[in-house]
Amino acid sequence: MSNDLPGEIRRVLVVGSGVMGRGIATLCVSRGFETAIFDPVPEALGATPAAVEAALERARDRGKMTREDAEAARSRLRPSRSLAEAAVGADLAIEAAPESLEVKRQIFAELDRVAAKAVLATNTSSLSIRKIAEATATPGRVIGLHFFNPAPVMPLVEIVVAPETSPETLAAVRRFVEALGKEAIVVRDSPGFATSRLGVALGLEAMRMVEEKIATATDIDRAMEAGYGHAMGPLKTSDLVGLDVRLAIAEALAAELSEERFRPPDILRTLVREGKTGKKAGEGFYRWEGNVARPTEGKDSR
Ligand code: NAD
Repeated sequence: MSNDLPGEIRRVLVVGSGVMGRGIATLCVSRGFETAIFDPVPEALGATPAAVEAALERARDRGKMTREDAEAARSRLRPSRSLAEAAVGADLAIEAAPESLEVKRQIFAELDRVAAKAVLATNTSSLSIRKIAEATATPGRVIGLHFFNPAPVMPLVEIVVAPETSPETLAAVRRFVEALGKEAIVVRDSPGFATSRLGVALGLEAMRMVEEKIATATDIDRAMEAGYGHAMGPLKTSDLVGLDVRLAIAEALAAELSEERFRPPDILRTLVREGKTGKKAGEGFYRWEGNVARPTEGKDSR
């Protein structure tokens, strides 16, 4: 089976045209890959070309590509309302559908039929690659390709390898990530991979420090930013990811890895219960005005 894999990835199929699917598609077309994109929701699919175009425009404004490059990139995008049609000729499928094992397993069962020669990758941020691969008859060609938001900008791609993933599959996606101009890390299929596990561990400890009134949220973040050179402190990062998302991942890691290390602090549960889920809600550990984070009043420890 793995011998059927394409020697080189030229055509990409993106499954799901939400935040991540559009970002990944933008990145792929910018880097010269013919890219089909499928979404079962007509509005989501219909809005995709304009969203990709706007992202290409932003890249142009940042001086990352010329007008001609952007036009050529745009012409490589092929939205499709049929998964089977979109899969024709695909060397690599990247699934970016909702974070549900059931949904992803359904998609992979269908990809197994309609994308017979492609590497099958999932952008899941927390689910087991092995469990997703079990929906196929060809688990050797299934792998995790975890992009970060916004995909065209963030340098990292986490490659997640299940026990059944074949060396040929890993080699093909390594070359693909390199062709995207991204940095790859390779992680064994395990809860939270590398990024979520480390990010959540630091975030939860920072939240416990807010609870214990060790310092303000701003000062705890500055400890890591100015002291350790992190681009963004753990509390601001949590606000940006969404505190509800952080809570769900912490609960999963507590159940699967260590109850003691990943038990969500009360302050996280309280903020989520109050709807203060971070940037998207306008408040979390900070008050958000657009992209600007301001300290929340009355939560100062001093
Ligand atoms: P989203 O909700 O923005 O997009 C999901 C898209 O999938 C929607 O357009 C929806 O219509 C579509 N969809 C629904 N059912 C589908 C199906 N059966 N087949 C194909 N498409 C379907 O979600 P998102 O934030 O883009 O996340 C997608 C995946 O990427 C999730 O697994 C998520 O965990 C992961 N991820 C998200 C981020 C992030 O920061 N948002 C970062 C890394 C990874």
